[in-house]
Amino acid sequence: MRIFYTCEYCGDHIDTLEVDAVDEAKFGFDCLTDQERQDIIKTDIAQNAIYVKSLCDNCITVIGLDDTLSLGMPTIANPKGYIH
Ligand SMILES: [Zn+2]
Repeated sequence: MRIFYTCEYCGDHIDTLEVDAVDEAKFGFDCLTDQERQDIIKTDIAQNAIYVKSLCDNCITVIGLDDTLSLGMPTIANPKGYIH
């Protein structure tokens, strides 16, 4: 099964994941309400595919969510000592 991530804002293709089975908790789908699921996730059984609406890096920057996301990642605010 393939999971296609598409940017909700500009329509750009973001990423494609190839998975054997969908682990809802792993993808964060279990945090969504039924309404949000219907809104964000489209399952195409014939194509064995799932389409997920997301946001690309570009649009995250444009919309201004960047600062909010950075706050959630303390390693970026304090990079010393971290080697990737
Ligand atoms: Zn976008």
